[in-house]
Amino acid sequence: MGLYEKLIDVRERIDRAARSVGRNPDEVELVAVTKSLELKKVREGVRAGMRIFGENYIQESEEKVLKVKNPNVKWHFIGHLQKNKVKQAVVLFDMIETVDSLSLAKEINKRVEESMDVLIQVKLGGEKSKGGVMPKEALELAREVSALKKLNLKGLMAVPPFFEDPEMSKPYFTTLRRIAERINSEQIPGLKLTELSMGMSHDFEVAVKEGATIVRVGTALFGPRKPK
Ligand SMILES: *Cc1c(COP(=O)(O)O)cnc(C)c1O
Repeated sequence: MGLYEKLIDVRERIDRAARSVGRNPDEVELVAVTKSLELKKVREGVRAGMRIFGENYIQESEEKVLKVKNPNVKWHFIGHLQKNKVKQAVVLFDMIETVDSLSLAKEINKRVEESMDVLIQVKLGGEKSKGGVMPKEALELAREVSALKKLNLKGLMAVPPFFEDPEMSKPYFTTLRRIAERINSEQIPGLKLTELSMGMSHDFEVAVKEGATIVRVGTALFGPRKPK
């Protein structure tokens, strides 16, 4: 399968999963994850019809973002963002999915010219190696982030632990949705979480059935990555 066929295939699987639970497939956006891939691949992706790209590293993404320069293409930052890279991140990206501390949020708010869409990353498996706030801290952080003028807090993002069987991810996705519902129930002025970024190549269909509005897919579109 070429890139175009793979994109059609992934998109159809998303649509089918959405319809199977009575959701509108248009509610689910596909982020094509291009970490470790060359600019050439990103360009092929754009030609195949991909419109949102996800990158994990500022340095690696810079050339791609600046050279693709297509007004219809959007970029999501999905890696761990260090404070000293925020200045670059705010000019390169349309959304930062991985806000996990108030100090990072404040730094984005300080550096961004107009505004930035952000998601709060929640750590669901408790793994030390992964970023994100603990579920019980999410409400407090959402409250604080929503008070920052230039940040548009849109929702939550998570990377659950990896399981061979994608159905095992399901309770994690359910948990993320419930955390968002819980935060929304607080009716914090100006705050409504509408986005759930969850699901990757091996489990995006499960995530869509649990309410994902953004799925982040690399391998299923581009094939296996070279080890870093
Ligand atoms: C690499 C990565 C993905 C994509 O993973 P695949 O399994 O290749 O689809 C999604 N989200 C994040 C945060 C990633 O780092």
